[in-house]
Amino acid sequence: MTKQIISTVAGLAGLLEQQKQAFDRAGAVGMADRRRRIQTAVDLLVKYHKPLVEAMDADFGGRPRGYSLMNDVIGSLTSLKYARDHFEPWMANEPRAPFPPYDQFGAQAWVMYQPKGSVGIIGTWNAPLFTLFSPLASALAAGNRAILKPSEVVPRTAQVVAEAVVDMFDPLEVGVVTGGPDMGEAFTSQPFDHIVFTGSTQVGKAVMRNAADNLVPVTLELGGKSPTIVARSADLATAAFRIGVAKASNAGQLCVNPDIVYVAREQLEDFVAALKRTFGELFPSVPGNPDMVAVVNPRHLARVESYVSDATQAGARVECAPAPVATDTAERRRPLSIVIDPPSTAKIMHEEIFGPAVVVKPYDQIDEVITDINSRPRPLALYYFGEDAGEQQRVLEHTLSGGVCINEAMFHAAMEDAPFGGVGASGMGHYHGREGFLEFSHARTVFKAPAYDPRREWGLLPPYSEQFLAMMEAQVTP
Ligand code: NAD
Repeated sequence: MTKQIISTVAGLAGLLEQQKQAFDRAGAVGMADRRRRIQTAVDLLVKYHKPLVEAMDADFGGRPRGYSLMNDVIGSLTSLKYARDHFEPWMANEPRAPFPPYDQFGAQAWVMYQPKGSVGIIGTWNAPLFTLFSPLASALAAGNRAILKPSEVVPRTAQVVAEAVVDMFDPLEVGVVTGGPDMGEAFTSQPFDHIVFTGSTQVGKAVMRNAADNLVPVTLELGGKSPTIVARSADLATAAFRIGVAKASNAGQLCVNPDIVYVAREQLEDFVAALKRTFGELFPSVPGNPDMVAVVNPRHLARVESYVSDATQAGARVECAPAPVATDTAERRRPLSIVIDPPSTAKIMHEEIFGPAVVVKPYDQIDEVITDINSRPRPLALYYFGEDAGEQQRVLEHTLSGGVCINEAMFHAAMEDAPFGGVGASGMGHYHGREGFLEFSHARTVFKAPAYDPRREWGLLPPYSEQFLAMMEAQVTP
């Protein structure tokens, strides 16, 4: 098969077909092949890290190279290396107990974890490497082949990813296609053996509809409005600092970014002041600040700014950190807009912010917060800042979210030894850790019968004797 970047639907369909044939031909995928494929992805990121971070900087219109290394290159490498160094014991067959009396007659049973085949992986623009290579780590550990589709919103990055994959991989093992929503539609209409989609909830629904036509299982890594609770027992300065640092990361363009922050009414002004102080310390200036990530394009900037202006018109107070200064139109770095107590009808109370703005909402009782969170779609993450163990447990037990951090934000997503994924509107399925391996494996039960078959002797086969019914009835026990 020729090594080339594929950008047509026919090319994609042909590659997938060839991957599936290669998968069937190859049979069992041993440890050495899995390790070699994961290592190739590691080597790809090492070899191409410089052009990749340059491309991300250019695509965003400002994204510090050290940040791209930390978030995307090292984040992906960490997933790949963890999978490479841990998958072997996950592959082992697991003996299971056959039912009586067959267990006593020498029956055996086990579960074998087999690769599903070819996994399609669609990435986003905000973490353009991580959303491809982190799920790839789990998919390859499970012995699958894969086809990647980077996001067209970061076209230079997508091009470098495509060139790197074509350079480093046998396309029958890992291939790549480029394109936008049309290619996404076509991609999710293919008979993959599993699809991982990272993106918005709205597109996630279309992906699941398309996949349903071929009964393709999906992992949906979606977004949402991750709620953040600052309890009365929290150290306010620490909470504001950690929330501010999270909002500063990728200019808030992260799926697990704090979105609505609930603060006790009497602490609200102190919290806002501390959050402003934190942001001002991190970014003393905005235009041209090389440490600050820009909003990826004018459309997303207009989207975030429209939420803030809509909230202002609806009566919310907005504070900026640091104070805004006039910028030329090409500059898309922005201060953090802190939108204080917008009415529930404001757009910003419903749309995922995904940018340099945050809502701060006062509360009187923690149960109001729990009720508000539960009245909304299930979020990808929930954050609780505070030292009251009872209240912390109450929040954990009375809410549901993809993951949780206590006294921090976003850190749970960096854990390799635990599943990362959403629930409800924030997605389904997960990658990372053994759970990620299981996600991309078929758990296949094998029952091996003993030589002796007791059914005839025990009167369990037709023609039934008179005792058969009585024997069965005797077994209907509580
Ligand atoms: P998006 O849904 O617009 O696009 C994501 C990908 O889907 C892109 O590659 C795009 O080309 C493709 N696509 C677009 N239309 C499609 C269609 N009809 N069918 C199939 N594919 C299609 O999302 P985005 O703007 O790139 O990313 C932002 C969203 O992603 C936010 O909601 C964010 O929370 C979420 N996100 C989630 C995670 C996570 O791990 N859960 C990580 C990053 C981002």
